[in-house]
Order: sequence, then C-alpha cells, then structure tokens
Amino acid sequence: MRWRFVVQGIVQGVGFRPRVYQLATELGLSGFVRNHAGAVWIEVEGVPSLIDLFATRLATRPPALARIDSIDHRQISPRGLPGFQIVESEQADSSGVFISPDVATCNECLSEILDPSDRRYGYAFANCTNCGPRLTIIQGSPYDRQRTTMAAFAMCAACRREYEDPLDRRFHAQPIACPDCGPQLRLLTSRGEWIACRDPLQEFAAALRAGQLGALKGLGGYHLVCDASSPAAVESLRRKKLRDEKPFAIMVADLEQGQVLCDINREESSLLTSVQRPIVLLRRRQESDAIAPGVAPGNPRLGVMLPYSPLHHLLLRAVGGRPLVMTSGNVSDEPMAYADEDAICRLGPMVDVILTHNREIHVRCEDSVTRVACGSPMPVRRSRGLAPSPIVLPQKLPLPTLAVGGQLKSTFALGRASTAFVSHHLGDLDQVSAYEAFTRDIQLYEQLFDIQPQLIVHDLHPDYVSTRYAEERAGQERLRTLPVQHHHAHIASCIAEHELQGPVIGVAFDGTGFGSDGAIWGGEFLLADLSGFERSAHLRYVRLPGGDAAIREPWRSAVAQLHDAGCDLSVLCDKVPQAALNVVTQMIRRGVNAPQTSSMGRLFDAVAALLGIRLKVSFEGQAAMELEWLAEQSGDTECYPLEVEEHERQPMIIETRPIIRSIVEDVRANVPRAVIARRFHATIAELIGRVAETIRNRTGVNRMALSGGVFMNAVLMEDSLRRLTNAGFEAFRQTAVPPNDGGLCLGQLAIAASFPEIKPVN
Ligand code: ZN
Ligand code: ZN
Ligand code: FE
Repeated sequence: MRWRFVVQGIVQGVGFRPRVYQLATELGLSGFVRNHAGAVWIEVEGVPSLIDLFATRLATRPPALARIDSIDHRQISPRGLPGFQIVESEQADSSGVFISPDVATCNECLSEILDPSDRRYGYAFANCTNCGPRLTIIQGSPYDRQRTTMAAFAMCAACRREYEDPLDRRFHAQPIACPDCGPQLRLLTSRGEWIACRDPLQEFAAALRAGQLGALKGLGGYHLVCDASSPAAVESLRRKKLRDEKPFAIMVADLEQGQVLCDINREESSLLTSVQRPIVLLRRRQESDAIAPGVAPGNPRLGVMLPYSPLHHLLLRAVGGRPLVMTSGNVSDEPMAYADEDAICRLGPMVDVILTHNREIHVRCEDSVTRVACGSPMPVRRSRGLAPSPIVLPQKLPLPTLAVGGQLKSTFALGRASTAFVSHHLGDLDQVSAYEAFTRDIQLYEQLFDIQPQLIVHDLHPDYVSTRYAEERAGQERLRTLPVQHHHAHIASCIAEHELQGPVIGVAFDGTGFGSDGAIWGGEFLLADLSGFERSAHLRYVRLPGGDAAIREPWRSAVAQLHDAGCDLSVLCDKVPQAALNVVTQMIRRGVNAPQTSSMGRLFDAVAALLGIRLKVSFEGQAAMELEWLAEQSGDTECYPLEVEEHERQPMIIETRPIIRSIVEDVRANVPRAVIARRFHATIAELIGRVAETIRNRTGVNRMALSGGVFMNAVLMEDSLRRLTNAGFEAFRQTAVPPNDGGLCLGQLAIAASFPEIKPVN
C-alpha cells in the first residue's frame, strides 16, 4: 500500500522532515518527505499495519516545536521503489507559508556550549533544528539558508556533515554554525571602534561587573545592559534612556536565581522556562539589595526573563551570576535598535561599551511580556518567541487582508483564508520612528508570507496614523477598506481567540477608543458577534478636560468626576495648585477642549488621583497599575453604591456619581487608601456582574467576553471572573493575544472574516 499524508501547521523549520525520516526508516517504509506549499508532504509505502503505526506515531510524536493543525491522508497507487528520501524544498512555491518564531536555546545545545570537550564550547551562536533564530533572520520563503541572513556564512565541512545527516539533530538546521564557520562576537567602543581582544564576551562581562553600561546585540535587536544590583549603574542607565519610572526588565541566569528574587508559582515557572522565554512579571520577595531600587521603583513586581540564546547563557555565567538589566535598546519609547549602524549611532552615546556580532538581524523583534492571572497567562506584549505564529480565525476571510490595529502598543495582522499572522510589537505609532517601523514591517511581512492585501481593516478613529496609512494606501492601490469600531475589535479579538459562535455580552474597558457617536468610549457593554454590535450599556459620560493632557495628568479626570458628582474639589486642594484646578473647572463648565468620555481607564485615573497615588503619569496605565498594587494589600470587598439608569431602546447608563461621592467620603474619613482601592475594584467587578445580569435577562445571552487594556489588572480580572462564574456566566478572557490595543488587529481581521460578500475593488 502507498499512502500520502499532507501535514499542515507549524511544520517547516522545526525538524519535521528528519522526524518523518526517522519514523519511516524505523518501520522499514519506503517513500519520501518534502516541504510543499507551507505543508509537509509525505508518501510512504509498505504493509498496511506498519503504515497505520506510522500514521499514529506521526500524529502523536511530532517534533517539540511543531504544531500540527491537520493531517490529510489518502491512498494512492504503489510505486515499488526502495528507500526513503528527504526531498529538497522547492523554490518559488510559497503559497501558504508559515514562519516559525525564534526559539530559545534547547538543553542539548546548552550542554554543548558548556562542555569543554565539545567543538561548540563557549560558542555564542550554537543552534539546532529544535532551537535558534527564525523570524529575525528570515529574508524570504521558503525557509532555507540562502534566504536567511546566515547565507553570508559558508558552512565548514563539519557543519555540512551535520546539516546533511538526516539522523543528526542539526539536519537542515538553516542557521547551523560553529566557531570555525559561523558568526563572531565583536567588542566596540561607544563610538563604534573595534576593540581587538581575545575574548569579547569576557571583556564585556568585566565592564558590566565594573558598573559600566553596555549595548548588547541579541536575537531580535539591541538591549541596554547593566548590573542590576548596582544602584549607580541603574541610575545612570535611567538618566541616559530618559526613562523616569517605567520598570526595567532583568535577566537572571536560571530559575533558581529567579526564585531568590521573586515568588514563582508553577504557571509562572513554566512560562519562564518555555521555549518562548517571555519576560514574566513576578511578585518580588521582600526588599533585598540584590536588585537596585531603580530597576522598578516602587513596583511590587519585577519583569524577569531567562537566557534565550547561547550568547545570553554565556554572558550570565561570565558576570558571575549577577542579575542584569536587559531593556530594549532605545531612547524613551522609540522602537528597539536592531541595525548595527543605527544602534551604534543611537545607543553609543548612552553606553561605555558595545558587544555586537556579524549575524544580521533582518526582522526586529522585541521581548514578549506576560503575567499570570487566575492560573493562566495574561499576555501584555506578544512578540519574540510568539510572533508570527499563525492564529486560526473562526471564519474564512473574503480577500487577502491587512488589519492595521490601533495607535498605541501597535501590532498589525496579515490574513489569508482562515489564518491570521499577528506581527511582533511595534510600539506607539505617535513616535515617528515607530511609524517608520510600522510601514517597513508591513511590507516585510507581506513579502515573507506572500500576501498582497486587497482589503485593509482599520480603526474608526480618523486621526490614528494607522487609519491614515490605511486610507492613503487603499487610495493609491485601489483596495477595499473596512473601518471597525475600537471596542468591537477588542471583543472580536476575544471571540476569535476562543472561536465563540453567536452573540456574547462583551465588556470592553480601556483608556480611549473612538465611538460611533464621536465621543470617546472606554467603559462599554456590547452585545456583539463578529459582524456587528449593539451598545447595551456604558459608563456615564463625563468631560475629559484637555484631551490627551488628561491622559498624562489623572488629576484632571478627578476634577471632571468631582464636578459631575457635585462634590467640591477640597480633596484635591492639598495636591493640585488652586489656579490649575480653576482652569480645568472652567474647561469642564464651558466644554472647551473637553470631549465627552465614558472611559473606564479614566475612572481608574480619577480614583488614583483622589487617593493621591498619582496626579501625573509618565506612561499610560501607570495610575491604574498603582491602584491595583494598593488594592492587593486589602481584602475589603465591600461595594460602593451602584446605580444603573435603564432606557427603552437606548444603552443603559452606569452611574459613576454615587461611587465618586462614597470614595470622597471614605477619603475624608481617613479610611486607609488600600481599603478604598480594594473596594473600588470590588465595585467595578460587581458592576460588571449586575449589568451583565440585566442584559442576560433581556436577551438570554449567557456568554461573556472581557477585553480592553483595563483588564490587564489582575485584581479586577479575578474579582470579575469570580462574580460572573458565581452568577452562572460563561466568561472568556484573552490568553493568546493581549487584551490591550496590541490585540486589536486580530479582532479587526476576525470582523473582516464575517463579511463573505466583500469583493475586491475591480
Ligand atoms: Zn538546540
Ligand atoms: Zn562550522
Ligand atoms: Fe483599546
């Protein structure tokens, strides 16, 4: 008998063909395996019982990094040829391309670089079919060495032997390298001059140990690095990076070292040690001087990651087990530097020494960030190690589609049929350099995945640069566009992730999003499916005095809420100058430069300001984050009074005034701030439960989707899920893409997929 199997999913560049070769030769089957159209194509010939066994093993024993989405099989006529072959990949056939994310160094490679008798001992670029760079070095498809930045290195005879041996761990490992033939490290001065030395890594480590600042070229870009235990080094880095308060991530040598610094539960340790190696936000152990206070000022959490390339493993050993600050190589919030000249020019002035190498990074990719809430991951940023793994859409797209996302925490997604490729993290598009990266990387992905979009989905906000990009490009190239309301996209993202059918009660809580009525939305209950939504309820509109200024200065939202609730401003008097209060009050009264908003994020801001936690912020969401930390310290879940105004045929209005009045009373009565913060969280969770119950009574819908940046708050998420589960709701939240605006593009694509009738322009 001869059978043909076509395996789809992440099956290329992950050691799939060698595994098939192993399975087939073990069973004495003849035939071949090759890559074809993004899938793996297998033909095996032999006796039926052995082919059965082969099929079972193929499905149950895929290589570690593979992800099988489907296996098609059918019987064909036997050929009677002996032997089993791995057929070279064919060029030019790139329909249905999948590109693997970068993968952290595997244990076998790690033990080789630590083994003095191994030929890759101490080598910073060791990798195999189970690990190493992928997305960041790929220049074209299909994935083959000559279409990666490793093409510049000619394989030595020893590497070639491994590369060509189907039973070797490095069989067809495209980035295969060794000290004789592969990339080399180079030490540079801050001005980019080459420092000749025997061991650049040891010299770099010595500089870090001496308290100097370094720039390090890693997998997806440059990091700024220093000794995380040195207060002077950390302070100096903070000054140079122009970053006042945003926490720095650290890298520690191994899990054990992480456990000294932080409490790590089982879910967290499995994330830390996963092949994706994200930064995991962990709860710190009691103040120890192992980490300088400037790393994450006032923050009860620490962003921690483990080494994910041989270079990192070797460096962490060379600094003698000190934790290192490892933060994106950029000034302030610009995109991370990844091209050598640009890095030297931008980062050189900030550091004392640069450790670089001659393997070019083709696609920049920042570290992923995640945390654990309710026992499962809550992605904060989906990037290195995760992008561009495909995500399956619930329906097929009518056309090849680009979804451009929002404005902040930008990501975009390309889609073909029912597959979505969500990009790595690009940053905030109001930065010119981030916008440049946005346009460049869209082009790059279109080329890599061979998708020419005929439809562009964008946010409803007319002033997002992503919207302008979409409109401009659609005009030039005659493409269809589909505008999507911001909060509908948030809910659709959650629907898509869990492949939910039928309507859901969507709770979209975030900072700001352009509403269908022109107001700024952000505290929304939407009865939604992918093709549309009805606004069932929202927070009462208040003013947002100063627009964007109010986002930077939470006290302005506090003034707006106090004014709306009929409270005097005395709780703010000791915190904000009277003149400023007067100006803002005038803006609110006259409605000048003070748009209407139903934003839940701004309500959190207002409460943080009323408690005196944060009057100004240096990054979006900072006030709400600090309110969450405070809430963690109390168990008082008493709720403030809730009122919901019900209307016929119109959205219900959720009252904020009674909540604000009660908080003011608590502040005046000197109730501890942690208690007020906790009660406020409990109140919002209760509010979600009550409003959802009303909507359920009217519609019979019992399924819920929670999304939007406010749900990065674990206290709120845990309280809300508990409340909803107790009330019998089936509630879903995002675990694959972030609930913040980094997850918007997936929702936008899913919405496009619900309109099968969309036709190309011509
Ligand atoms: Zn490996
Ligand atoms: Zn070699
Ligand atoms: Fe949003």
